Amino acid sequence: MTTAKVIDGKAFAAALRTRIGEAAASFAAHTGRRPGLAVVLVGEDPASQVYVGAKGKACEAAGMASFEHRLAADTSEAALLSLIERLNNDPEVDGILVQLPLPAGLNEQAIIAAISPDKDVDGFHVINAGRLAVGQEGFVPCTPLGCIMLLKDQLGDLSGLEAVVIGRSNIVGKPMAQLLIDANATVTIAHSRTRDLADVVRRADIVVAAVGRAEMVRGDWIKPGATVIDVGINRLPPEDGKEKGRLVGDVAYAEAAQVAGAITPVPGGVGPMTIAVLLRNTLVAACHSAGMPAPEGL
Ligand code: NDP
Repeated sequence: MTTAKVIDGKAFAAALRTRIGEAAASFAAHTGRRPGLAVVLVGEDPASQVYVGAKGKACEAAGMASFEHRLAADTSEAALLSLIERLNNDPEVDGILVQLPLPAGLNEQAIIAAISPDKDVDGFHVINAGRLAVGQEGFVPCTPLGCIMLLKDQLGDLSGLEAVVIGRSNIVGKPMAQLLIDANATVTIAHSRTRDLADVVRRADIVVAAVGRAEMVRGDWIKPGATVIDVGINRLPPEDGKEKGRLVGDVAYAEAAQVAGAITPVPGGVGPMTIAVLLRNTLVAACHSAGMPAPEGL
């Protein structure tokens, strides 16, 4: 029997997208142009193609302009850098996103470093990572920003709560920990070398799992009443007769839901927040570029 409240990221993201759409319409009325996001895809990775398509559709649905650049897998670094330079200087483009991973042979760090920090709506540029680290305003990576929005909506004030983030990637784990520190939580970052991970997680009022291992966090690791945010997206092997396996998170949902106070499902939890926050960051970039204040409450 499920006892935890299910945190409906899909509904939260839909409401956020509606507010972003209204703000985008008001931006267009003031400036005579729509906020614009350029998405660059190099190569034909099937998952990346799906993500890029979804981002373009979400942009259009929110009243934003979407500029897709699909390049061949053998595109040279010089050609990609020159496209980014062009997008940096294009006044119609407010946000630039280069879909990762890039094909082997392209230096991801060099490519991200070439994006103007003011258009880096993914928040991966070292300037934006640095701004987050020192508490300055900048672009924050979309997935952890989506997670902190869900947490604040669920819990209100996070002051003094014990938070454990499992995973220390630059894209999720580290920025997540920074955002929790900013919200006055007491934060532990766990990773593959952490000893007694289950015991560490048992201390947590807030658990954020961003590992990439199917159902690794078990129900008996969760402190009763804790809030669990599951970032993981893992596909299980297909069951008999099925073409594709089920999608599951990093948390054993059925077990954890019997102990936790609230929990995000997979799918339908953190996933939908990521694209909604990308639109939010693009809108904020557009407002900055037009010298307008960013809309409040987004
Ligand atoms: P990375 O592979 O970059 O990082 C994984 C982290 O998990 C590392 O810090 C690693 O530790 C840690 N880890 C690995 N094994 C263990 C273990 N046994 N015990 C404890 N920690 C462990 O992944 P990402 O951060 O990019 O993504 C994490 C997950 O989130 C993936 O499932 C990904 O698909 C999903 N994701 C979902 C998004 C969404 O929109 N919902 C967006 C982005 C990611 P170490 O550093 O020591 O190697």
